[in-house]
Amino acid sequence: MKKIVILGAGFGGLRAAIKISKKLRSLQLLKDYEVVLIDRNDHHTYTPLLYEVATTSKSLANIAELHEVAAYKIKPLIKNLSLTFLQKEVTAADLIRGEVILGGKEKILADYLVIALGAEVNYFDIPGLASSALALKTFTDAIRIRDSVWNLGMAGEENIKILVVGGGATGVELASELKVWCGELEKEFRKCELEVAIIEAGRTILPGFDTRVIKLVEKRLKRVGVKIFAHESLTRVEKKKAYLTSGRIEPFDILIWAGGIKAAEALSKLPLKNEARGRVVVRGKMECLPQTPDLKFRSKVYGLGDTICFYDPRTEKPIPSVARAAISQANVVSENIIEDIKMENGLTKTADHKVYKSMEYPYITPVGGKYAVAKIGPLVVAGFWGWILKGLVELNYLFSIMPRWTALRLWLKGLKIFTQNDRLG
Ligand SMILES: Cc1cc2nc3c(=O)[nH]c(=O)nc-3n(C[C@H](O)[C@H](O)[C@H](O)COP(=O)(O)OP(=O)(O)OC[C@H]3O[C@@H](n4cnc5c(N)ncnc54)[C@H](O)[C@@H]3O)c2cc1C
Repeated sequence: MKKIVILGAGFGGLRAAIKISKKLRSLQLLKDYEVVLIDRNDHHTYTPLLYEVATTSKSLANIAELHEVAAYKIKPLIKNLSLTFLQKEVTAADLIRGEVILGGKEKILADYLVIALGAEVNYFDIPGLASSALALKTFTDAIRIRDSVWNLGMAGEENIKILVVGGGATGVELASELKVWCGELEKEFRKCELEVAIIEAGRTILPGFDTRVIKLVEKRLKRVGVKIFAHESLTRVEKKKAYLTSGRIEPFDILIWAGGIKAAEALSKLPLKNEARGRVVVRGKMECLPQTPDLKFRSKVYGLGDTICFYDPRTEKPIPSVARAAISQANVVSENIIEDIKMENGLTKTADHKVYKSMEYPYITPVGGKYAVAKIGPLVVAGFWGWILKGLVELNYLFSIMPRWTALRLWLKGLKIFTQNDRLG
């Protein structure tokens, strides 16, 4: 059997695996092709909910409940599909032989390879940062943040100072929700003040966002009580103190780094064209290019999502790392692989490959409690209705990866848990 190997079961990888498997079934080719999906985790994380997981009191939900509503086990998601899932760490790949190395020793031969390994936290070698800061990239990261705050509260700390470095969407949603969570913590620990500040290198928070969105978010952050230090970068971290470019020294109890991402480590040694942050440069058909033209890969290698860099031909800038882009790219990759397979099996004479066209993706930034700012095309929706939209986007996504009743049940369960810490919203 030929193997279509998909590395990473995130937004892009899972979508590609589901689509390719369904299409192979309709072409009655499942006896000749096996779709193999590989991820280090046994779950698929819905990252837009991580800031909620990080700010849920232990008394409201335990880890298992939070896992159920924000990080879905992969096996049940694919149980009705012809799809093999391997929970393994991808450690390397030999593209010339077409082999992917799992856990440092086991090999799997790929006839088609899709790289969808997402991104990792980039600490930019800032002295003391990686060892002192928490991040918000995975479900476990989110649990670490909530445990850190909770444990300080349990220890009787009355004033907890939290610095969030990086005023992009992740930093903003986490900082504002941490502040709103304060009300719930006061209930638990009688007096527990969270002092939350965002440090952002740009002139404003949310660099690159629409100015209307920035203004609304700034106003809301002020209202919930999050401080903003703009035009400030972190130079080093030492003994619970953050040193900033202006000479300012900010003490902290908890430091959260939301200042940047880079391509997944497993890609770093692959002979593929890449850019400064290590992301693989991919063009129109989402095929990865060899570093030099003389390199001949055994199989076609496609790439998608946060792991790649796709330059938008209109702006000549890389398109943003968002879930919607990873999903659209997964659709293109799936169709192109299916075209290749149809050719291979004489079902078509020419492969009608699709070209990925970037677009301005809608984005919703929650800013504490039942408040979010959504930007859909030229339209900006802020407040409660922005928050409602965010919920509907989530439900719609769940519908696309699991049975409707399961999706609805999990969505309602999440809603019930996550709206209980919104007292100051
Ligand atoms: C806190 C947070 C909030 C976000 N909110 C939004 C939002 O509201 N809207 C939005 O559009 N985007 C949001 N994003 C961005 C969005 O999550 C990413 O753009 C999206 O996940 C990219 O999809 P992907 O398939 O490329 O990678 P991912 O979804 O990150 O998936 C990569 C997968 O690869 C696996 N993996 C990585 N390395 C290995 C390895 N060596 N071996 C095995 N498996 C490996 C990982 O476990 C993961 O499952 C958010 C991101 C974060 C961190």
